[in-house]
Amino acid sequence: MGIDLQPIGEIDSDVLTGISAGLVSAFGNPVRIKPAIGVPESSYVPDRNQYLADLILTVLKTHQKADRRLLGVADINIYSQGLNFVFGQADYHNRIGVISLTLLKQENYGLPGDLALLIERAQKEAVHELGHTFGLGHCQDGTCVMHFSNSLIDTDVKKVYFCRRCQPKLVL
Ligand SMILES: [Zn+2]
Ligand SMILES: [Zn+2]
Repeated sequence: MGIDLQPIGEIDSDVLTGISAGLVSAFGNPVRIKPAIGVPESSYVPDRNQYLADLILTVLKTHQKADRRLLGVADINIYSQGLNFVFGQADYHNRIGVISLTLLKQENYGLPGDLALLIERAQKEAVHELGHTFGLGHCQDGTCVMHFSNSLIDTDVKKVYFCRRCQPKLVL
């Protein structure tokens, strides 16, 4: 089953290409980069000035082609119920995921931008969310890509690869 990468709003093409390469290497499936869609305003929650990830997934589903996984890439502040923020979220049943670059960018922490680091972080979160759509849960191994990132430090510590316990569970 191929993977479609869906830019949500304006996303740097180098970042999309980098994510695509990371996905090909993790899953071996062909990846297509689709034309961008607008940021779904139906997912915006004014009280929090954030976007609810579940509602983005609902919109993404309407853009999903049959028999293809879909990963949205946004650059907006997203959250899930019960969490202040998330780097991404997945819907295993529908094989859809979304990640956001906003909290992965050095410049949003008052630091100089770093494209290579942004791409590496985005690859990890992209492989993580799509890993869920392949049936993988969270892994206790802090270096495994399926480890839950509670903070950017977690993302930087984990690798872009599945650990030896998770890799065999991947049903490709
Ligand atoms: Zn997860
Ligand atoms: Zn693992």
